[in-house]
Amino acid sequence: MNKEIILIKNGELALKGLNRSTFEEVMIKNIKRKLKPFGNFSVKRAQSTITIEPMDDNFDMSIALEQMQYIFGIAAFSKALVCEKDINDILSRGPSYLADALSGVKTFKVEAKRSDKSFPLTSPEISKLMGGELLKKYKHLSVDVHNPECVVTVEIRDFAAYVRAGQIRGAGGLPVGTAGKAAILISGGIDSPVAAYMMAKRGVALSAIHFASPPYTSPRAEQKVRELLEKVSAYSGPIRLGVVPFTEIQEQIAKNCPEEFFTLIMRRMMMRISCILAENSGCLALITGESLGQVASQTLPALAVTDEVCTMPVLRPAIGMDKEEIIKISKKIDAFDISIQPYEDCCTVFTPKHPKTRPTVLQCIEAEKALDIDALISRAVENTEFSYVE
Ligand code: ATP
Ligand code: MG
Repeated sequence: MNKEIILIKNGELALKGLNRSTFEEVMIKNIKRKLKPFGNFSVKRAQSTITIEPMDDNFDMSIALEQMQYIFGIAAFSKALVCEKDINDILSRGPSYLADALSGVKTFKVEAKRSDKSFPLTSPEISKLMGGELLKKYKHLSVDVHNPECVVTVEIRDFAAYVRAGQIRGAGGLPVGTAGKAAILISGGIDSPVAAYMMAKRGVALSAIHFASPPYTSPRAEQKVRELLEKVSAYSGPIRLGVVPFTEIQEQIAKNCPEEFFTLIMRRMMMRISCILAENSGCLALITGESLGQVASQTLPALAVTDEVCTMPVLRPAIGMDKEEIIKISKKIDAFDISIQPYEDCCTVFTPKHPKTRPTVLQCIEAEKALDIDALISRAVENTEFSYVE
């Protein structure tokens, strides 16, 4: 019977020198978690390639292959036929294994890679033999070494030879978990899920914080946030979500502070609470979906005012991006259609008619003096409710 495996190539990982082994271990752990629901399999690594081998007939190769697109750290992946390290076996079973891949194309070339230098044939010799065999079997094909529609690869490795056609580009980035953990401040909008995805792509594991202001915001808005996090967790793995009760704080701000500062003070409160929650859950930074100049609270003076209350770095991966660019990623991760559903966010409650666009820290401190900040924060932190999204 033909045994098929998945071959995975590391991307940036290859550059990590001594850390490489740790990075690969994290990536393998992420792959295992991702594939667990789909049957028994074994994962091995050798020479910057990871192989996934099905261990029973129930293992669904095409689902497994699809899942690989969600694993950061993978540069490229493909399925491949496992052959003996014997040219006769490669030439007798390889061509028929490639039937599907070659049926829709007219031109191909063969690339041979030989990491086992004791193999009796050189790479050009292997390519030539395989090419000849394919031309004999598939009369519609011709060889095009410069611009082939399909690249057939024969790899001779330590324990086996692999035959494959083409490969799929992986998600890139670094394995989630290799860059520590950060907390995404998630609203129901377009930008924050994209920001979360972008940081996960750089290896950051995620935890999430959402501010809800019932009855001004509906349970459906919270549900929307969960659905967005589900899309992100396809890449990042499970996310612990804390939902912070924010009604009292917003009402107090609306009642006691000057209107033009409502949004800034609200954001300062969000940041203070987020830093505490983030620290409690082992996070090293906050993440927001802010983009420079997008709204009044995202000008440089406004960002300075919100950062002033933060006790950890605030990562804003979308800061230099246009809405168009953000939307492109939002669609790619399948979040866009959820984000555009119309539900109130707490940010849209009590919005000032003329928000302050060049605030100073001193003005803000003055404007929020009427609040019992510590008491408000500790009640919000104490009453935050946690659950997992995956
Ligand atoms: P988004 O599209 O992510 O909602 P936005 O452009 O609407 O962003 P704002 O509403 O000003 O911008 O919010 C800026 C950032 O503040 C968001 O990207 C998000 O990180 C955070 N944020 C806003 N509202 C909330 C909320 N209710 N809970 C948690 N974080 C929030
Ligand atoms: Mg928003």
